[in-house]
Amino acid sequence: MPSLLFRNASVITMDPHLPTAQAVVVRDGGIIWVGRERDIPPLAVDRVIPCGGATLLPGLNDAHIHLLALASSLRQLDCSRGAVASIPDMQSLIRARAQATPPGQWLRGRGYDEFYLKERRHPNRADLDAAAPRHPVRLDHRSGHACVLNSLGLELVGIGPDTPDPPEGVIQRDQEERPTGLLFEMAGYLSHRMREFRAPEQLAEMVSETSQTLLRWGVTSLQDASPENDLERWHTLRAMREKGALQQRLTFMPGIHHLAQFTDAGLAYGAGDDRLRLGPAKLVVALTTGVLYPSGEEILALVRDAHQNGFPVAAHAVEEEAIMAVLNAFTSQTQDLSPGFVARDRVEHCSEATPKVQMLLKATNAMVVTQPGFIYESAERYVATVPLEKQPWLYPLRSLRDMGVPLAAGSDAPVASPNPWRGIYSALTRRSADGLELHPEQGLPLEDALRLYTAGAAAASGEGGLKGTIQAGAPADLALLDRHLVEAVPDDLLTARVVLTMVGGQVVWEM
Ligand SMILES: [Zn+2]
Repeated sequence: MPSLLFRNASVITMDPHLPTAQAVVVRDGGIIWVGRERDIPPLAVDRVIPCGGATLLPGLNDAHIHLLALASSLRQLDCSRGAVASIPDMQSLIRARAQATPPGQWLRGRGYDEFYLKERRHPNRADLDAAAPRHPVRLDHRSGHACVLNSLGLELVGIGPDTPDPPEGVIQRDQEERPTGLLFEMAGYLSHRMREFRAPEQLAEMVSETSQTLLRWGVTSLQDASPENDLERWHTLRAMREKGALQQRLTFMPGIHHLAQFTDAGLAYGAGDDRLRLGPAKLVVALTTGVLYPSGEEILALVRDAHQNGFPVAAHAVEEEAIMAVLNAFTSQTQDLSPGFVARDRVEHCSEATPKVQMLLKATNAMVVTQPGFIYESAERYVATVPLEKQPWLYPLRSLRDMGVPLAAGSDAPVASPNPWRGIYSALTRRSADGLELHPEQGLPLEDALRLYTAGAAAASGEGGLKGTIQAGAPADLALLDRHLVEAVPDDLLTARVVLTMVGGQVVWEM
């Protein structure tokens, strides 16, 4: 592997002992020296990269992503805000795709948001039937927590008037008790019943495309937070890595309901290697259907079981009530963590971080893994739909940081765009794509916004310390930009280009 010297860079190191530097030497996959231009050691290197004063950062780490869903979404109809404005817009996309697809094959769309549709409602099965009567159709809501099927789709997955709601979800019904097509929290239910044909080569190709896109943004590590993650997926992703389809390092969070598969196979927390590693157990606690699911007692049992098996827990919790239930379980179950356990439990999203939540957060050791990209994409919806008195507590990153709560960030793609720069921008500015500001006093300084996606994210996967920083001994995961970032020009975060991305000392993307 060639050795390298970056010189005349504006290095943001995330190392408190040496926060900025100008030169970095990389050898054998790791960083061996960081310092000032005039102190560069007289080492023979294979390549010198003059950076012209541009910013050099630790490679970005997306602490919460759904890789396979993101990869599959590349082939799905884009129904997101910006791509469609109304239900007829979606119908014409579906109609066009149906014409090019043999009848009987699934048509999939993603990212619709009823808040941004002209009709201000979810589409229903009749809307989809009108566009594609001979194909099963499934449209996923932006959040990933709802979807709509057409009549043929419902029939194929076995949902009819007599089908009871599963414990975790809701089948919306009309006055005659017939399903309307709209389903809440039923992604897991559907994944068992939708037999979509997809050849492994096709999946590998989609993962490879996704991986390349992320490299162009400087993303060198991913943390997959899919609750469906089971042992089979672990093997699928391992094969992707071995084939070279996936260039990033990946932390794979096993779904908490599948945890026994891993422990039975002798796979403990941290199993694998620094390229593919088993991470915290992923738990989803939702209030979507109006009641907490799973119940407080069940959450406690799941957290206890994970801890007893040596796994920290990453719990999806958005609403205050869900977050409180999760934090209560974390607090009462910490004693089960084995001695020497360094990783922390995590609250994913932690959207409604009210004073009550903040107090409990402080009392636990838990991290918050936030999604500033949600502000970029959805600030208008928050302002219009979240009660005014709750709005100051939406993702209050500055308050959490000041309280000493460790923070990390991820995109939650495909729920939001996987572009980390939008998240960094909104963490700093609290601005949406259209310029609406959501409590700007909660914005973070540039260095802290970057920390969410570097050192903070490394801590979230239990790899804190060297990873996510630029210092001697750290893995050489780096992103070089085309300009010098300064806090006073936040728009640069949206327009800057990554000119070189390095994973483990290897240049994996170069403009
Ligand atoms: Zn997620």
